[in-house]
Amino acid sequence: MSDTVMNQSIDSVMKTYQRFPVTLVKGKGSYVWDDKENKYLDYTSGIATCNLGHVPENVHQKLSEQLEKLWHCSNLYEIPSQNQLAGLLTENSCLDQVFFCNSGAEANEAAIKLAKKYAKDKGHPERTEIVTFQQSFHGRTGITMAATAQEKIHHGFTPLTQGFRYLPYNDLSSLEQVHNGSTTAVLLELVQGEGGVNAADSEWINKLAEICKEADILLMIDEVQTGMGRTGTLFAYEQYGIEPDVLTLAKGLGSGFPIGAMLAKEEAGASLQPGTHGSTFGGNPLAASAGIATIETILKEDILSKVKTNSEWLKQQLEAIMQEHDAIKDVRGTGFIIGVEFDSEAASYIQAFREKRVLVLSAGANVLRILPPLTTTKRELEDFILLFKEVMTEGGNKS
Ligand SMILES: *Cc1c(COP(=O)(O)O)cnc(C)c1O
Repeated sequence: MSDTVMNQSIDSVMKTYQRFPVTLVKGKGSYVWDDKENKYLDYTSGIATCNLGHVPENVHQKLSEQLEKLWHCSNLYEIPSQNQLAGLLTENSCLDQVFFCNSGAEANEAAIKLAKKYAKDKGHPERTEIVTFQQSFHGRTGITMAATAQEKIHHGFTPLTQGFRYLPYNDLSSLEQVHNGSTTAVLLELVQGEGGVNAADSEWINKLAEICKEADILLMIDEVQTGMGRTGTLFAYEQYGIEPDVLTLAKGLGSGFPIGAMLAKEEAGASLQPGTHGSTFGGNPLAASAGIATIETILKEDILSKVKTNSEWLKQQLEAIMQEHDAIKDVRGTGFIIGVEFDSEAASYIQAFREKRVLVLSAGANVLRILPPLTTTKRELEDFILLFKEVMTEGGNKS
């Protein structure tokens, strides 16, 4: 392809992303290669999506088999692979039913629709509000953007969809404001991913769950980023001793094949009857196959216990580095969603890592977000720590 054609095609893509100056063309396991054949350690996992690494064998095989049989089938017909994936998700969680869609925002949209309908079905038409929390991230569609309590996401897009009330995260004293008579649901992440890698405090979330239960307010957990083993359990809620009424998934569910899901307990799920919601592509045979292979691999290959051991080691190493360098203010997170907070913008560190052929992300301005594939090896982690020490000694990239 000539340069002019290349440039034209780049210019034709809408500029909604501030893109890194790397073009990735191939991936295998924890590594990706750019168009100049440089090899990078990928500790972004496509933002917590390629949880099994790039091109995982089991998912590849399952998708190849399905590719020969049937690609798409309308949701007006029964889809066996969808039934199987729903079975795997419900057997391995406290939820009973699954609605399939294509992304995290769509999964949250489904949850928000369910919450509104649920209030009416339960004889509470005055309950029209959903409580979400500051620094949250729930998606970029009109409604999920309004659910996201971050000014920068709203900027330029007013008037926002009504019906969301924002409360401070991890703040015990404001919990009394959750049940004000007009709340049908709360929606929250257990580790805020985009908002700075902030984990929910156990006492706070348990109190919140109690309030929801007493007032018949739906507890809806957005596990789009924390789900599918990322935190060391299949779902993050398992570590808090709570049971959500609704749970949303996407990113890691299909190992990179687009799929989203909203799971609900039977009583809540009953609000979405035929004709109330739908999706053309949601849980199509290819997407469902990717989901089945992903969850089966996580469970069969004991990946969760590896995440626990390896992430503890990684966190200890990062904490030791923090002791040596004043520029690091905090190391936090659960399992393989780890945030390193700096006293300045994380961007210069991200660039320094990229120059050492390591890809990492930010979460807010000053937080470096590390999202290794769950399958990363001890050896790869050791390499990463060596490079981390180099970056710190060199003081990030201040150019
Ligand atoms: C990424 C993300 C979303 C949005 O998912 P999309 O697939 O980009 O629509 C929603 N919630 C959380 C917690 C996320 O991390």
